[in-house]
Amino acid sequence: MPQSRQLSHYIAGTWTATTGDDWIPDVNPSDARDVVASVPRGTAADAQAAVAAAHQALESWRGLTGPSRAEHLYRWAGVLAEQQEALAQAMTREVGKPIAESRGEAARCVAILRYFAGEAVRSAGDVIPAQAPGALQFSLREPLGVVALITPWNFPAAIPMWKAAPALAFGNTVVLKPAEASSYVASLLAESANAAGLPSGVFNVLLGSGAVLGPALLADQAVRGVSFTGSAAVGAQIAAAAAARNLKYQTEMGGKNVGIVLADADLGQAAALIAAGAMRFAGQKCTATSRVIVARSVEDAFLDRLREQIAGLRLGPVTDPQAAVGPVITATSRDAIARALQRAGGEQIVPAQVPGTADFAHGYFVAPTVVRGIAPDAPLAQEELFGPVLAWLPADDLDHALALANGTRYGLSASLFTRDVRSALAYIRRIDVGLVRVNGDTTGVDPHAPFGGMRGSSSGTREQGPAAREFYTETKTVQINP
Ligand code: NAD
Repeated sequence: MPQSRQLSHYIAGTWTATTGDDWIPDVNPSDARDVVASVPRGTAADAQAAVAAAHQALESWRGLTGPSRAEHLYRWAGVLAEQQEALAQAMTREVGKPIAESRGEAARCVAILRYFAGEAVRSAGDVIPAQAPGALQFSLREPLGVVALITPWNFPAAIPMWKAAPALAFGNTVVLKPAEASSYVASLLAESANAAGLPSGVFNVLLGSGAVLGPALLADQAVRGVSFTGSAAVGAQIAAAAAARNLKYQTEMGGKNVGIVLADADLGQAAALIAAGAMRFAGQKCTATSRVIVARSVEDAFLDRLREQIAGLRLGPVTDPQAAVGPVITATSRDAIARALQRAGGEQIVPAQVPGTADFAHGYFVAPTVVRGIAPDAPLAQEELFGPVLAWLPADDLDHALALANGTRYGLSASLFTRDVRSALAYIRRIDVGLVRVNGDTTGVDPHAPFGGMRGSSSGTREQGPAAREFYTETKTVQINP
């Protein structure tokens, strides 16, 4: 078995032992005998220490010029670029992400850092004509201060980075609280920040349980903003706590993302992209396709193609470089998916079995499954399951398909498959999601394009690209009179 590591917080540029004495085992979901790390269950005192370090570093960091902060981020990108393969291997081992996707995610981290290094030197305000004669009026964007970043395990490097890079570029300092199950990858990010010479206290990593550390971070008066990505239930708690303190917050949450296949679609293209969106990384992306809505007249033809495409996505342990569908994250998650499938009723039209071979014996595997014959308001068609499961719903026409597509509490990502520009235009206007695709995969977004959901999927802010500046800065309107 590969080595197991005992992790520490990274506070004020130093590896810092927890003040607690409780540890969380962090296991490889593809082979639970492989304990990747022991994660300290950080305490409220640890959270205060991390915030204090970020607060102490704030004045000098925000006082740097944009070009100096950019230099720091470029150096960090350079170190990460050299360590990309090791980071990818760690992601695959820690969260069970197939290696090709982990490599893509590691490369994305480098791209994100470079993008926001560039943003640090772009103009960030407007000159506004003043009513007073001779006055100069303009707007300035100022950093919020110390920001808490609370992240999930499924994009263990990219999500921390797409929050930390803009936060730092615009002069904030950061306390990152990664998911327990992705603490090792977060520690590698801290190692690379350290190797790049990022000033002490600018980027801190706090490990442990969200239920303890989240409230401690949100209660600390030095924290001026919180950016959260994770489940809708936790996001709602964070929004309530942040609002009570009048703290700037963003919550990016789950989805019940949909592929819509109209009768005139290129069925081969639709099947390939819907299979990939639903099943790759065992359906554990917030943007994974978990519902497919199919025009009745092409149901049979589309099903044949979908079956073929799903069969081509190999379910395998992460040691298999060809595996496209790896394990789900925990035994609890695997068992919850099995129970949901049992309760769902309907017909499993693409049922599969996890092979009984030794390769699968110690991991948390779920075979890709498509379920038909359930009601649109059934839990399987409404709730995020976070597994390789696709709910199939038939539709009479575009209007019906859109009503079904918009008929959940979520609004993250959708894709319409059609060759008809009028259908595409109507859908773009009427679909209530933040990420709108035509003839595309519901997953994945360019690192420089705004990312986020509508309705129950988001607090309404956006991450990445120019949108990130809106969140990580506040506006001052300045008038200088003669
Ligand atoms: P989760 O909500 O269980 O945990 C997310 C983070 O919140 C973790 O760091 C956790 O420790 C912390 N946390 C838990 N309880 C907390 C509390 N009471 N206060 C503060 N923090 C707390 O989510 P997860 O299982 O890690 O990730 C999967 C979920 O994330 C899915 O719902 C998925 O859709 C969502 N997700 C959304 C996006 C997006 O951008 N919309 C991206 C990736 C994942």
